[in-house]
Amino acid sequence: MRSQYSGPPPERGLFCNRTLNMRAIKAVGYDMDYTLIHYRVEAWERRAYEYIRDRLVEQGWPVADLTFDPMLAIRGLIIDTAKGNLLKANRFGFVKKALHGSKPMDFDAQREAYNRTIIDLADRRWVFLNTLFSLSEACIYAQLVDRLDAGQLPGPMGYVDLYEHVRKNLDATHMQGRLKAEIIADPERYVIDDPETPLALLDQKSAGKKLLLITNSEWAYTEPMMHFAFDKHLPDGMTWRQLFDVVIVSARKPEFFTTRSTLFEVVEANGEALLRPHSGPLNRSKPYFGGSALELERHLGLSGDEILYVGDHMFGDVHVTKNVLRWRTALILRELEDEVRAIAAFRATEIRIHWGLLTRAGNDKSHLARQVERYADIYTSRVSNFLFATPFVYLRSPRGSLPHDPSLPGGTPVFTTGDGAGSVPTE
Ligand SMILES: [Mg+2]
Repeated sequence: MRSQYSGPPPERGLFCNRTLNMRAIKAVGYDMDYTLIHYRVEAWERRAYEYIRDRLVEQGWPVADLTFDPMLAIRGLIIDTAKGNLLKANRFGFVKKALHGSKPMDFDAQREAYNRTIIDLADRRWVFLNTLFSLSEACIYAQLVDRLDAGQLPGPMGYVDLYEHVRKNLDATHMQGRLKAEIIADPERYVIDDPETPLALLDQKSAGKKLLLITNSEWAYTEPMMHFAFDKHLPDGMTWRQLFDVVIVSARKPEFFTTRSTLFEVVEANGEALLRPHSGPLNRSKPYFGGSALELERHLGLSGDEILYVGDHMFGDVHVTKNVLRWRTALILRELEDEVRAIAAFRATEIRIHWGLLTRAGNDKSHLARQVERYADIYTSRVSNFLFATPFVYLRSPRGSLPHDPSLPGGTPVFTTGDGAGSVPTE
């Protein structure tokens, strides 16, 4: 008998770069921000932007009139801090499109600047926009480059100094916690609710998988946000805390995956969170602070290939995890939904005014697409897409295509799709 299963809408598939048998996965670790909880990008980034701008105004910079432009940057672009440019590169690191400050560079200027350049992200000159949290930083940097060129900023200062100044103020912004306090006070304004995300985790838990929360956010932010996003969608009486076998906050990814930091227990007393050094087994009813992935592996008694880590940060969540520990990795890329719809409708240029598709640079794959291919075993637009498959799904990667494959018409871009839906039994 054929089932009525019709599969997910194409933009919500589980796309597979390397075959992943979910039956072999014993633990699934999750990042929180922009993974388990999706924010209204424009609202959040506009607020982050305003904080940086206001700090610069306090320092006497004439920038009070600047406003956030959500169309100026997309994830996957690269800031050239040496030249004050925002770039889109192809998979080989060749620059295909460039802005100087906020203004498009013409063909000759772009060729002059990058003819002999191959971008290597290991060089500090280049800053890859790894997450949606990077958009405010890229936007204000581009606008400040315009001001610097016009001689309107305090000097002497170069493009590199300018970038470092923005970065320093952005870090301070995040540390201040004022932005987060605003979000905790009014989460509806900043969070896009997805009732199916808690259900996807519940499904994995019922299938016997251990669930881990590993977030860089601190406990004072994690607790109210997870409560807001999860508890109302869970069965009566159940809270998000009961879903997870291990909760680690302030994890300091990517260092969490590469070094051994001290592990603390978060002790709540009189409304305050205190830290107590911890050794020995982890208690599932307690949240922890810091620590390391190696320690966690030992606690779980699992090897790297039995753990799937799901996150939205290209470097901090999937690149390092894959390279150092060989954990299996899933990248959450929310923009994929627009991207897949645009490809289907052949209206690529409509979704982003001048940058085009996220995963393409001209006819080639973009630098972002190459990173996804290298470091993410699977990728998908949101965590709740796991519900379209069973927790034991066998995700098979498509056969890799090469330009000489006879099945490919010359010059036609190939979009690699996985078979998340196809792996669900139809008989
Ligand atoms: Mg995140």
